[in-house]
Amino acid sequence: MPQYDVIIIGGGPAGLFAAMELAQAANLSVLLMEKGRDIDKRSCLIMEKGGVCPPCHPCHLVSGLGGAGAFSDGKLTLSPDVGGHLPEYLGWQRTQELIEYADNAYLRFGAKDHVFNGGTQVEDLQRRASLAELRLIPVDIRHMGTDRSRQVLCGMRDFLQGKVEIRANLPAARVVVEDGQLKGVETSKGECLECRYLIVAPGREGSDWLVKEARRLKLTLHNNPVDVGVRVEVPAAVMDSVTSILYEAKLEYFSRTFDDRIRTFCMCPAGEVIMDSTGGADPIATVNGHSYAERKTNNTNFALLVSTTFTEPFNDPIGYGKYIARLANILGGGGVLVQRLGDLQEGRRSTLARLERGIVQPTLKCAIPGDLSCVLPYRFLKGIVEMLEAMDKFLPGTASRHTLLYGVEVKFYSARLELSQNLESEIPNLFAAGDGAGVTRGLMQASVSGVVAAREILRRVGAKVSPAHPLAV
Ligand SMILES: Cc1cc2nc3c(=O)[nH]c(=O)nc-3n(C[C@H](O)[C@H](O)[C@H](O)COP(=O)(O)OP(=O)(O)OC[C@H]3O[C@@H](n4cnc5c(N)ncnc54)[C@H](O)[C@@H]3O)c2cc1C
Repeated sequence: MPQYDVIIIGGGPAGLFAAMELAQAANLSVLLMEKGRDIDKRSCLIMEKGGVCPPCHPCHLVSGLGGAGAFSDGKLTLSPDVGGHLPEYLGWQRTQELIEYADNAYLRFGAKDHVFNGGTQVEDLQRRASLAELRLIPVDIRHMGTDRSRQVLCGMRDFLQGKVEIRANLPAARVVVEDGQLKGVETSKGECLECRYLIVAPGREGSDWLVKEARRLKLTLHNNPVDVGVRVEVPAAVMDSVTSILYEAKLEYFSRTFDDRIRTFCMCPAGEVIMDSTGGADPIATVNGHSYAERKTNNTNFALLVSTTFTEPFNDPIGYGKYIARLANILGGGGVLVQRLGDLQEGRRSTLARLERGIVQPTLKCAIPGDLSCVLPYRFLKGIVEMLEAMDKFLPGTASRHTLLYGVEVKFYSARLELSQNLESEIPNLFAAGDGAGVTRGLMQASVSGVVAAREILRRVGAKVSPAHPLAV
């Protein structure tokens, strides 16, 4: 008999929601293994004290119980239209139902009940955006904030105590498959843990590991578009007319020169730009953003991501993104770069003195003033500048010479595993969920994907579950 009925790799939102769903069945033995620390033991020195990233192995910002969700901005997007590919597997309606279900769980564990939905003002915003060649995608958003996200995820961890075995500081090294049959997981300590079902949910941080495992196990991988760009920081007042109504302006633009899709992503009103590190033993530093529910800055930041689809023989979207991020790290002494838009347009690097003269003061103090034109391919940089100019017509001040660009922001969900509608891989009983598998791109869909995989396992084992789920409000 295997030691466990189910093992879950990764304690982010996908893994936690899978565990909570499985915890309904009293007689299942479930192990949640997480390579980072327990959530209470995670702290980022750079966020607390500033300075240069050491970096930690693994990075506390993105690894540990709670996953990248623990320090995330905590924006729960309540529509299937953004945040991942789940509607392609589940259909739009089922995705929407499961989003409502997961949203109820977030509420039960302490998320605020206010939802930003724009109401009657959305149409006018959309009309104004279209005059600037931008598409504004209105999405209902529940904002938890970085501080509240952590509390909510701690609550989920506490809920699981005694129902599921949780082992932190335990990296999975290998998925063990013999003669096409799933056997279990080998840990980095060489321990072999057997299981009947496995849910792999290693997040973006573990996507590289998952790709290597998929290649070793000869699983089919598809390329999602490569998403590379910068994080933009402007005075909060520039974005106010949209962020006060929608919280986040989800804007889409097709570049004039290359016809690439460029979009805003993860807008953090009155927030902070942060640096995170991915890549295990050979880490790379990239930028990100978050905002607190209570602590506000004078700046708003957001990512501008250029999506490019490369054709055969290209098969390494994650490697490509890492390569570009590494260029910024080489120039930034291991860290990330920051440049004023005005300096970029004048063909010169930013310097500390130039930054100090700027109206926008960087919230990420450890970013090195530099030149992003030495990092980003022309196609990406051109698209970013074109979109900023379009945004400036809609939200004046966006393309000011004082606007700060941090580089680079890369999203490591570019490789997607071949999965069934229930998120099962080509190996029976091996499921994959969340951002690492390339099926989701945010907290909400990652959470839902964990529920989908877990429900299929519950169905297969014929687990007796109460018709009223304990998490439903
Ligand atoms: C700063 C920041 C702000 C963000 N803000 C938002 C936001 O406002 N809204 C939003 O929707 N999304 C946001 N995101 C993205 C969001 O956090 C992710 O989409 C979400 O956490 C993905 O969930 P996941 O469970 O798939 O992966 P993760 O949360 O990344 O969790 C995966 C876990 O697996 C662990 N792991 C990896 N490999 C192994 C292994 N081999 N063995 C054991 N464990 C392993 C990792 O340590 C990690 O803890 C933000 C992310 C960051 C970093």
